[in-house]
Amino acid sequence: MYRLGKVDDIDDPNQTLYAAKAMNPSYPGIIDYLFWALGERKTCMNNLCRRNECPIHLYCIKRGLNPSEISYMVRKSMPW
Ligand SMILES: [Zn+2]
Repeated sequence: MYRLGKVDDIDDPNQTLYAAKAMNPSYPGIIDYLFWALGERKTCMNNLCRRNECPIHLYCIKRGLNPSEISYMVRKSMPW
């Protein structure tokens, strides 16, 4: 959520909860699970995104990643 630009404080679970509710009001837990699963599989973590495997890398602003990695990324508008 932090890397996506949806929360400002990476350590504040309330911000994450509110962002998940905004993205999917009827079932915010699925959003949290998605990001947890991406981190658990080491596909997308706070300091690394395996963009060939990451299903959301085109929507991510890459906050917290090395700027050289950001420069070749193409960002699309998020679908929500
Ligand atoms: Zn990613």
